[in-house]
Amino acid sequence: DAFIGAIESANPALNAYVETTFDKARAQAAASDAKLAKGEGGRLEGAPLGIKDLYCTAGVRTTACSGILSNFVPTYESTVTQNLWDDGAVMLGKLNMDEFAMGSSNETSHWGPVTNPWKSRGSNAALTPGGSSGGSASAVAADLCLAATASDTGGSIRQPAAFTGTVGIKPTYGRCSRYGMVAFASSLDQAGPITKTVADSAILLQSMCSHDAKDSTSLTVPVPDFASFVGKSVKGLRIGIPDEYRLDGIPAEIDALWEQGIAWLKDAGAEIVRISLPHTKYALPCYYIIAPAEASSNLARYDGMRYGHRTDKAQGLTDVYELSRSEGFGKEVKRRIMIGTYVLSAGFYDAYYVKALKVRRRIAEDFINAWNSCDVILTPATPSAAFELGDQAKAADPVAMYLNDVFTVTTNLAGLPGMSVPAGLDSQGLPLGLQVIGKTLDEGTVFAVGAALE
Ligand code: GLN
Repeated sequence: DAFIGAIESANPALNAYVETTFDKARAQAAASDAKLAKGEGGRLEGAPLGIKDLYCTAGVRTTACSGILSNFVPTYESTVTQNLWDDGAVMLGKLNMDEFAMGSSNETSHWGPVTNPWKSRGSNAALTPGGSSGGSASAVAADLCLAATASDTGGSIRQPAAFTGTVGIKPTYGRCSRYGMVAFASSLDQAGPITKTVADSAILLQSMCSHDAKDSTSLTVPVPDFASFVGKSVKGLRIGIPDEYRLDGIPAEIDALWEQGIAWLKDAGAEIVRISLPHTKYALPCYYIIAPAEASSNLARYDGMRYGHRTDKAQGLTDVYELSRSEGFGKEVKRRIMIGTYVLSAGFYDAYYVKALKVRRRIAEDFINAWNSCDVILTPATPSAAFELGDQAKAADPVAMYLNDVFTVTTNLAGLPGMSVPAGLDSQGLPLGLQVIGKTLDEGTVFAVGAALE
């Protein structure tokens, strides 16, 4: 009831929820109360959560914040959300996001932007909570849920977490099932939680992970007890600091935060090692070829025929396809479809797509080599703090917006776990995050280092 009250009073201004499911929440909560009264109940019994609108929820509208899915009510539940309900969680509603998770400011949503509950010192300007999981981050930061699900294809969990002073982890590719998650770029997409603390993050991720025969890329490995790593000593751990992440033009405050993080871990007994990830400079162009290529293929299913928006202006079959898609998709999604179709087309496929796949392999190998000398890598999470909604420079130049992802896309390309932990405030009083990158399947060490930085 406290969360429902908070949503009713704050959501009109924040626009974090695009759909609320309070009746369902009350029913689930009553069932949880009954279980708890008998001394029973799961890991998340009674915990009120918000769900990113990219997870299919049976009987509850799921739009991925696109016009083309504005009337879509799934008949089935995603594996990740089913795992949460099986462990006793309660659903408050569906959270806003960039359309099909394409964006870094939550401004591409069909349902309008989300506002960050944080304000700059001395300014009343509305700030972005980041994207694409802007609704998840804003809702957690404003206490409109205890925690939220999110998803990360190139930084969409970690960048919004950094912009809102929350904790976000993208686990190893394949830890969480993608079944029932609306697809953006299938070889990069991963589920993960946004929470207030590292301890909560470990608990929620534990429930989200599972092997699932319905996702061919789901891993069959056991899921360790993530919570047991929270609070574990980092003494003797080797922390890699990549030279190539020291970018020109990054604000001095971001560098200072990084130095502070390094000092904290040193004080806690960790060893700091300089490492090199030489192909880092190719990561953004590589990502912005592979992600749109996969998106253009995944989004071909929205044809106005089977489900989703269908135009009422068509004169014939081709019109149904053309008009349904041109009316249903937003501008950024169309841009990605065009880029993706271009890089996959005959004559350009080898020069762009195949080349990007080779570069992706080099980026993954950079990390494999780095693990010879370190156990975990520490970097800034974002190149800036939260920026203003409607930022003209970024709105006019999509590439300026893409630069937000400079520190985060490498882990998606390599399939590695990465966490953003709140680590301090900038001179305007806005939160900044540090990123901890771990080895494949070594979320445990990421949780230990994250908790040491918290
Ligand atoms: N900002 C990146 C993009 O627009 C990443 C999005 C994501 O991780 N879903 O593609």
